[in-house]
Amino acid sequence: MNNEKIDKLLLLNKKNRKVLIDSLRKTGISDKILDIIDKIPREYFISQDLYDEAYIDKPLPIGNRQTISQPYTVCFMTELLEIKENVKVLEIGTGSGYQALILKMLGAEVYTVERIEYLFNKSQTAFKDFNLEIFGFYKDGTTGLEEKAPFDRIIVTAAAPNIPEALIKQLKINGIMVIPVGEKDCQKMLKIKKIDNNNFKTSEHSTFRFVPLIGKYGWSSEN
Ligand code: SAM
Repeated sequence: MNNEKIDKLLLLNKKNRKVLIDSLRKTGISDKILDIIDKIPREYFISQDLYDEAYIDKPLPIGNRQTISQPYTVCFMTELLEIKENVKVLEIGTGSGYQALILKMLGAEVYTVERIEYLFNKSQTAFKDFNLEIFGFYKDGTTGLEEKAPFDRIIVTAAAPNIPEALIKQLKINGIMVIPVGEKDCQKMLKIKKIDNNNFKTSEHSTFRFVPLIGKYGWSSEN
């Protein structure tokens, strides 16, 4: 990262960022992830009138009725993914690009898919500004990314009514998928390990509230 704007933003709310990081540490988030949280100014992804809220642990608007997720949620999902150097990750729901940047900075090869053109374009600029090679795609992610499959990890950052079949197929054996599944107003976080093509080990985690995953194998609309 050598963008002047990013360096300036990093200095703005240093203290607030530290308070957030300390509180995330108390929930059990590892230093490896927290060190990255400290290197990416959340202000970059939001409008200036929200800068004071950048390090409050809550989702914030990024345009088109979408959000950058709550920092705890981003960190928790990242922990569940068990990222190792060079794992190939598919993210469905690029949004601001914040989660994709964290995965990349942890050493993953990152493919990310967004269905809203405005957010796709903005995230492409973010990846350039942060000087990181992340492969972004503008399409419906409920069908996965067949042309780049299979993946070691898949993360879905929008609320799914159920697990899209295509994503399961595009996950490698021993791969891990993390996805919030449930109703539109409340989802269970699922971690799914693919044992073989017919067997999966699934663990259920806390409840969350994401914006809906909209598409062929998701919800048909926001409402
Ligand atoms: N990961 C994001 C970040 O770091 O900012 C936050 C994602 S936001 C909570 C959910 C995103 O999923 C929205 O940008 C939304 O447009 C996107 N989305 C919803 N349905 C989608 C689909 N079928 N394919 C791709 N993206 C989708």
